[in-house]
Amino acid sequence: MRLSRHFLPTLRETPAGAEIVSHQLMLRAGLIRQTAAGIYAWLPLGHRVLMRIAAIVRREQDRAGAIEMLMPTIQPADLWRQSGRYEAYGPEMLRFPDRHGREMLYGPTNEEMLTAIFRDCATSYRDLPRTLYHIQWKFRDEVRPRFGVMRGREFLMKDAYSFDLDPEGGKASYDAQFTAYLRTFAALGLKAVPVRAPSGPIGGDLSHEFHIIADTGESEIFYDAALDDVDLADPEAPARLRGLYAMEAEEHARAAECRVPPGRLARRRGIEVGHIFFFGTKYSAAMGFSVQGRDGAPVTPLMGSYGIGVSRLVGAIIEASHDAAGIIWPDSVAPYDVALIDLRPDDPDCAGAVAALAGQLEAAGVAVLHDDRDARPGEKFATMDLIGLPWQLIVGPKGLAAGTVELKRRATGERHMLSPESALARLTGGS
Ligand code: ATP
Ligand code: MG
Repeated sequence: MRLSRHFLPTLRETPAGAEIVSHQLMLRAGLIRQTAAGIYAWLPLGHRVLMRIAAIVRREQDRAGAIEMLMPTIQPADLWRQSGRYEAYGPEMLRFPDRHGREMLYGPTNEEMLTAIFRDCATSYRDLPRTLYHIQWKFRDEVRPRFGVMRGREFLMKDAYSFDLDPEGGKASYDAQFTAYLRTFAALGLKAVPVRAPSGPIGGDLSHEFHIIADTGESEIFYDAALDDVDLADPEAPARLRGLYAMEAEEHARAAECRVPPGRLARRRGIEVGHIFFFGTKYSAAMGFSVQGRDGAPVTPLMGSYGIGVSRLVGAIIEASHDAAGIIWPDSVAPYDVALIDLRPDDPDCAGAVAALAGQLEAAGVAVLHDDRDARPGEKFATMDLIGLPWQLIVGPKGLAAGTVELKRRATGERHMLSPESALARLTGGS
């Protein structure tokens, strides 16, 4: 993709009102534009990142045996009256009548809708267990939307729902999601701490939140400091993280984690990027859902629900990975793999060589953002450092005459002068 034909409105100055670095960088790097308080348009670069994150979330959900579907954003109020949550939900729910005066709402979550759909189709124990999910926009009229996409009003969520016949099955579905979450966050280049969330009023509830450690996080969490030493590249990392889960309240942490040696209880701030919940028959019982059990007697299915903040993750990844010059995208979610910087697009030989390199990279499946703008080199370097693509391939007439191009790794700043062939081989995994 040629930058001169792209839509990438970057900003030189930090916009007023953006308090945290991820929000500032998302605006400056041209990822999003605010259209109303807590509501954002995803510009082309931001959209690519959002879709890559969603693809990783989808891959791990599918691997865990969850089945994808898509439910609407708009729901009828009647559904929520069946569960008793319509009145209880409060002003965070955006409610409105349609032209016939029917009460509608923009879904803040989908427990009711999926319980009703599954209830109307599942009749026997053979239809269970099942875990279904979708990746869909939600609306919550947050009292204080802030920090850009981190606490938006409209946001993209993956939400999964499990239906099981007995508590053992319910626990197994919960565990499958737990493992999928650790894999998902590791694939995104993030270390997510599973935090034991306080149980609700119904006995037997089980719940974990997943937090990214960051000073700008809105939650305070307590955890075994041994977590800081877990290497994400270690295949045992998911198991180790799981053994070291943390608590949201210090008293809980001290009471339940007596196995944490004194002095090893760390206190940090976290960004909640996921939340899993096993709540048993709460919705199925309220909404009259039962299936015929193995012995012929009716069984009320046990349910869990499992959310990931897909759009919040864009901000969380930037909080975890940036420097003074801009964003540093992990390879797995970068909007493009390589920034191909043409230092002299006005020089036909240079432009020809760069176009050939772009063609070869793209043919090998590498996503290239080709900076062919008529601009000074310093401006090009600054733009590319700001938008944070993992690699920069810098090509100019002097280097070409000497048979070299320059390859820079954004994360480390490491630079190598290479022949164009070796640079291509590195970027396409050929050496
Ligand atoms: P929070 O405590 O941050 O308000 P929540 O507990 O209300 O979140 P859940 O109902 O658990 O949120 O939703 C699942 C996930 O959706 C959260 O873990 C979070 O990552 C994401 N999420 C929730 N609210 C927002 C929001 N306003 N903006 C962006 N993402 C959100
Ligand atoms: Mg939550």
